[in-house]
Amino acid sequence: MDCLFCKIVAGQIPANIVKRTELTTAFNDITPQAPTHILIIPNQHYENMAEVASNDLSLVGEIFKAAGEIALESGLGSYRLNVNTGAAAGQSVFHAHLHLLGGRPFAWPPG
Ligand code: 5GP
Ligand code: ZN
Repeated sequence: MDCLFCKIVAGQIPANIVKRTELTTAFNDITPQAPTHILIIPNQHYENMAEVASNDLSLVGEIFKAAGEIALESGLGSYRLNVNTGAAAGQSVFHAHLHLLGGRPFAWPPG
């Protein structure tokens, strides 16, 4: 399958890996939108987070657990977790991922 994030999981495309488990990989976003901008993804390919939830609910927990651990290890007291689902919502890579953003204030509502 020609999927950018599957290639990062497989080590075929380089990425700055922050944390890796049997089920998840976390790496720095190539175009950071905050001082900390990390993507946490399932190692297995799913198109979006809803597909992860439909097929493997515990994997959703693993992804959020990894995000929480990274935030703690990074000393982030406040941070934003973001899931873009569908192109109109800003999804550009169709391998499920959770954005972890921190290190600056965030506005609400988001743009
Ligand atoms: P989305 O827009 O789908 O919610 O998020 C995809 C994210 O992947 C974007 O923030 C984008 O900067 C990031 N991204 C795209 N290509 C690469 C890449 O080759 N390496 C890394 N590390 N991040 C990427
Ligand atoms: Zn993939």
